[in-house]
Amino acid sequence: MDATQVEDDLVEVLFTEKQIQDRLDELAQQIAADYEGKDLLIVGILRGAAMVMVDLARALPRHLEMDWMAISSYGSGTKSSGVVRILKDLDTDITGRHVLIVDEIIETGLTQSWVTSNLASRHPASVEICTLLRKPEAVQMPLDVKYVGWDIPNDFVVGYGLDYRQKYRNLRDIGTLAPHVYS
Ligand code: IMP
Ligand code: MG
Repeated sequence: MDATQVEDDLVEVLFTEKQIQDRLDELAQQIAADYEGKDLLIVGILRGAAMVMVDLARALPRHLEMDWMAISSYGSGTKSSGVVRILKDLDTDITGRHVLIVDEIIETGLTQSWVTSNLASRHPASVEICTLLRKPEAVQMPLDVKYVGWDIPNDFVVGYGLDYRQKYRNLRDIGTLAPHVYS
């Protein structure tokens, strides 16, 4: 669905489907250049990063492997709990591999810093992070993020994989959720 179907639930559309695809193309060019001559494994963090992962993978003009991890870091509301659990681990042995974690949003950074150190402990050749969105004002953990689509204000956003109570993930655009929806 697109923003017109959920108009009343959004304060504004932050990024349209077209803007998202264009930005992913730019990131893909950068990633392709940085990993030239190297084997690349991209790891998507379910469920939120599903859309970013498949679109970024297809924008990359090279061979790569894809794997997935499922992490639970949120309750059902709009606040990060910081408590991380692996719901589904990688199927791939990442020893000696170049791993690029693909995420949709970094808020406090608690989830990503946990995931990164977990994967780093498995002796990969490298671990880097690519996130479509980041909320700099909310970051609590210093985190080295190599690829960022956009920095955004500290508001709750939905769409393009981002959910509120499991809804809005299939919205093509990304928008700021209106407070009346969650209060
Ligand atoms: P962090 O641990 O605080 O960085 O939280 C990261 C996770 O919280 C993301 O992977 C999302 O699942 C969720 N999250 C953070 N901000 C938002 C938002 O604005 N909309 C939807 N989900 C969010
Ligand atoms: Mg996520």
